Amino acid sequence: MKLLRRLHLQTIAKAKYLRTTAPIALCLGLIVFAENTAIDAYNTVQSIESSRPSLSFAANRWVIEKLKSLGGMESLFDIGGHKSLSTTDLAMLASYIKNLLPLVHNVSDLEGGAESPFGVYTSQIQELGNGVIAAMATGDITDAGFRQALTHDLTRLKTLFERMNEELNVQSAVLIDMQGKALDASRHALLKLFISLLGAVASMLMLLGLNSKSRREAEFQASHDATTGLLNRQGFEKWIDSYERSSDRLPLALVVLDVDDFKEVNDEFGHMAGDTVLRAFVRQLTANFGPNSHVARWGGDEFVVALPIDGFFDAGAVTMLRSAFTQLNTSVQFGTTEIVVRCSAGAAFCPSDATTVREALQFADLALYKAKRQGAGRLQFYDAEIRQERQRVLTIRDRLRNALKDGQLQLHWQPQVNVAYPHVPSAEALLRWYDRETGAMVPPALFIPAAETSELILEIDNFVLDQAIRTAAAWSKKWQHPPTVAVNVSAMHFQQREFVSQVRDLLRLHNLHPHRLELEITEGVILGDDAVVSRNLEGLEQLGVRLALDDFGTGYSNIAYLSHLKPDRLKIDQTFVRRIGHDKQMKSLVSAIIGIGRAIDCDVVAEGVETAEQLAEVKSLGCNLVQGYYFAKPMPADAFEAWRDANYPDEQAAVQQLRQIGDRMASSMPGVKSEPLLAAAGI
Ligand code: C2E
Ligand code: MG
Ligand code: MG
Repeated sequence: MKLLRRLHLQTIAKAKYLRTTAPIALCLGLIVFAENTAIDAYNTVQSIESSRPSLSFAANRWVIEKLKSLGGMESLFDIGGHKSLSTTDLAMLASYIKNLLPLVHNVSDLEGGAESPFGVYTSQIQELGNGVIAAMATGDITDAGFRQALTHDLTRLKTLFERMNEELNVQSAVLIDMQGKALDASRHALLKLFISLLGAVASMLMLLGLNSKSRREAEFQASHDATTGLLNRQGFEKWIDSYERSSDRLPLALVVLDVDDFKEVNDEFGHMAGDTVLRAFVRQLTANFGPNSHVARWGGDEFVVALPIDGFFDAGAVTMLRSAFTQLNTSVQFGTTEIVVRCSAGAAFCPSDATTVREALQFADLALYKAKRQGAGRLQFYDAEIRQERQRVLTIRDRLRNALKDGQLQLHWQPQVNVAYPHVPSAEALLRWYDRETGAMVPPALFIPAAETSELILEIDNFVLDQAIRTAAAWSKKWQHPPTVAVNVSAMHFQQREFVSQVRDLLRLHNLHPHRLELEITEGVILGDDAVVSRNLEGLEQLGVRLALDDFGTGYSNIAYLSHLKPDRLKIDQTFVRRIGHDKQMKSLVSAIIGIGRAIDCDVVAEGVETAEQLAEVKSLGCNLVQGYYFAKPMPADAFEAWRDANYPDEQAAVQQLRQIGDRMASSMPGVKSEPLLAAAGI
């Protein structure tokens, strides 16, 4: 008993560390079950479970509940080692074993019948069980024949158990040790041992069966898309791996397809309609590319087809793909509206264009990008022009990577001026690359897009965030009313799970109040993983970091997402501001944007103000926050500091004026506090 308890404790400790020890915990639970009560066993498993929750433990609990529900267990195992078993006790034991066996069989059914390893084991257990039940039926356990039958069955059960352990990769030193000891013990102990071992075997099988069933289900779900039933990205990646491993690889055509204007369908008719459209499209896609093709949903409205093109020359394959593509003409009827689904596609061949499938996929993606630039509904093959452009991007990326290491990247700062109460409440950090090779200052428009095609943009963004927060912290010491710093964040970075914690760490590292930081994002971020983006938005709001929507008005015209993003600031894109003086419609548009800003309670900055006329126009529309060459071009931090001190020495006076207004508003309007008003004005 002592030995058991010691083993019990040791095994609990082990169970915490080893993934494969869940069944030990269970077996142990069952031994305790045999030695004490069902409740003890249940608690044992539960306490392990709470220290290391996992699916296996959930299954364990299920098994124990099942065993408990067989009934009579507690009194059954109350039979002491010296008490003689009555006929009723024996009948109860026999019925317990009888009840246990179907449970074992359920597992073999789950696992594909008699031929499966589970089936083989369970039929052997069934035989043993029948032998013991028959022996019990004699009703006299003092009988030497019964003891002999039991010992014999127990030995076979032990062998079976050991083999299962080996073959099913389960560790069970505890049971085997204990069994060796118990073989010399009394027949009561033997009987109890037989039952607990049988219970352990049964539950082990059930556990493995359940786990492998749920594992198979989980594997299927993880590799397939629930809406279309196609392979998902992960499933397709697996297929690529198996294709790359196979020795008789056939040449492949890789096609990447993107449904045109799918977002509009979703926005106008809802997500259910969107799903219907996708399913109809997929039916056609799989039919057109034929049974040899491997079709996957790459994400959102993007699909991938891998098609073996053995026996085709490239020209023949091109013709075949063109014809499959042209015949994609899905249409779906919603009420009185017919939606005609069109798509754009890019294609590349493996091995003639690329050496690996993943590379071909990348090339097909570049071709898709070119197809879209040329207008919707086109199929574009990877060609020499794309190859050259790719080469250019790769070269820039290589040089940029070195530039980052060599300290050739630096931040310039452009002021954002409040023209109503002249002061500079904020400044935007804009990245510059001083290229030592050419001596030129490379503008971000030439290198950010190249960086955005790879994870290099994450390194760059982190560098910018770190530098900007460091500078902002220095300004907090320098000025009584320091400017808030605005930092551009790429969509890819904003879609990273750890984004918020990175920002939080940097703020702590440099000791900057979160309110002093504003992150500028574009509408592109909401095209990413919804769940991650939503979590990041929430996280930033909780942290107290401000959010600005950059280049507002140039992205998707659906503004419903504003309620989701909840920005603190809208930045009117400079293309609007540029035309405001001579284009009436543009003026109305800017006025409308300012109205939207007011409606959702966030401030509005006009970007790219270059002339006094443009300034007068935006002011007349009620926009008092302005950024542009009219005031200053982006400049290094020290130049910015000198510029601010020289041009806005009366910062203190403006702030004072604003404070008074804030206080007046707060005192005249019940419920209004001056602090938030001042914070909105950047104070
Ligand atoms: P943006 O965030 O919209 O930045 C405003 C751009 O407009 C800046 O260009 C700025 O120099 C320019 N600008 C400001 N006032 C005027 C004006 O009056 N007239 C004209 N013609 N232009 C003006 P820049 O610095 O070349 O940056 C271009 C874009 O590159 C930025 O657009 C932003 O999207 C991106 N970018 C810049 N720095 C970073 C960065 O650190 N990280 C990331 N991810 N993107 C950055
Ligand atoms: Mg910006
Ligand atoms: Mg902008």
